[in-house]
Amino acid sequence: MAAAVEISLPNGLKYSQPTGLFIGNEFVPATGEKFAVINPATNEEVITLPGASEADVDKAVAAARRAFEGEWSELAAVDRGSFLYKLSELIDRDRKLLASIDAFDNGKARHTYTDALEGDIDESYNVFKYYAGAADKITGRTIETSPAKLAYVLQEPLGVCGQIIPWNFPFMMLAWKVAPALACGNTVVLKPAEQTPLSALYFGKLVVEAGLPAGVVNIIPGIGSVSGKALAGHMDVDKIAFTGSTNTGRAIMKSAANNLKNITLECGGKSPSIVFEDADLDQAAKWCHSGIMYNQGQVCTSTSRIYVHEAVYDDFLKRFVEITKENARVGDPFSSETWQGPQVSQAQYDKILSYIEEGKSSGARLLHGGSKHGSKGLFIEPTVFADTTEDMKIIQEEIFGPVVAISKFSTEAEAIAKANDTSYGLAAALFTEKISKAHKVARKLQAGMVWINSSNDSHFGIPFGGYKSSGIGRELGQYALDAYTQSKAVHVNLGSRL
Ligand code: ADP
Repeated sequence: MAAAVEISLPNGLKYSQPTGLFIGNEFVPATGEKFAVINPATNEEVITLPGASEADVDKAVAAARRAFEGEWSELAAVDRGSFLYKLSELIDRDRKLLASIDAFDNGKARHTYTDALEGDIDESYNVFKYYAGAADKITGRTIETSPAKLAYVLQEPLGVCGQIIPWNFPFMMLAWKVAPALACGNTVVLKPAEQTPLSALYFGKLVVEAGLPAGVVNIIPGIGSVSGKALAGHMDVDKIAFTGSTNTGRAIMKSAANNLKNITLECGGKSPSIVFEDADLDQAAKWCHSGIMYNQGQVCTSTSRIYVHEAVYDDFLKRFVEITKENARVGDPFSSETWQGPQVSQAQYDKILSYIEEGKSSGARLLHGGSKHGSKGLFIEPTVFADTTEDMKIIQEEIFGPVVAISKFSTEAEAIAKANDTSYGLAAALFTEKISKAHKVARKLQAGMVWINSSNDSHFGIPFGGYKSSGIGRELGQYALDAYTQSKAVHVNLGSRL
């Protein structure tokens, strides 16, 4: 057995943190390279964990295969649903602890920390409940082809699903991946991000408590280029579902090509907001602000480029900077005063600061922020650039931090062209009080999700995913049931061969 470690969280909660790997309903030692988990608010090491080696990945996949072919496949769908429902209840019971672990491990601040209670963890609870109810409602079709023939379609599970998740919503990403896969009758091997493995390992305890058969859920923290790569390339894994950067998505797609795995990729974005001259400017400024600054700007759907009609440009900038100033309370994630916490890691922090320098040297007008905040921890000032141009790196590349680029447009066609001028296509927001313009523009935006007069809405019943280099496939809602099943056509002959 791998040892558990007692952790005291900054808000006074104490708990026993499992370590190692969760395979076959046990915490077992990992044999791969070690990695450090830090508290980004202090940039100090919390714990060093051993990661999964290739041999460990083999063990986890074998456990998932045994479970898939054994007890799990013999369960009635309604009973799979009951297990998911039990998991939802345990998440609800432990919501404060789970939110606190993610706030500690990721740096989610009060705004997002309370969101982790009311947002991330609540969403996770709902996702498990949603798919608990969905498990016995997965149906195929019956198709009559001719009087003597009949065909029906069975929606069957894919088998062993490898799931590779990022660090920006540690527990919620687990929920988005694990719940639909299990509802459809698959088993899973989940690899959390090396920056934030704690809540995923804790989830292993809930799996045991809920009484799931051994091997249905396996959790293997580790280094992406070792355990993630081994999972994506494993010949006995049937599907890879991934959320993370586009570059890693590309690498995973290559690894997954060996046995033509089914894949779902949810990758990066550089999502635009368009503010038309007839928008409610106060509302537009508020949504645009939270759309980029929420969760320290570490959201794949962050609306990091804002295009504002020239007639309201100066007015919008004034309002946007005011809201940014009001909410520039950067600091301790557990303090009720804080709006923005630290960035997740030194690597992200350095990358964001180098983009800020790039913005300054490329001639963008700096209206707020522009440097690190404080002397300890990975804090960065919310940074607002105006008068940006399409050729600038800060307009073209995903920064994944609290940095926004604002510029003006004169015509609707120009706004749409600029919004679509990116290799990404995850999301887009638009602000107008004109209903016909709103729907017309929504259809022209190359994005998997469009928000009219809001930003960054998502819901467990609504498909989530991107166009272009932002990904392949959709998560959540009924769409995830398609993503985790395959169709089997059964042809029935009712006549005789002449
Ligand atoms: P970031 O660059 O922000 O850390 P990544 O997209 O690299 O984001 O990471 C998302 C997830 O993908 C993490 O769990 C990480 O460990 C994993 N990962 C990284 N590289 C690879 C790889 N080559 N193959 C499979 N998974 C990987």
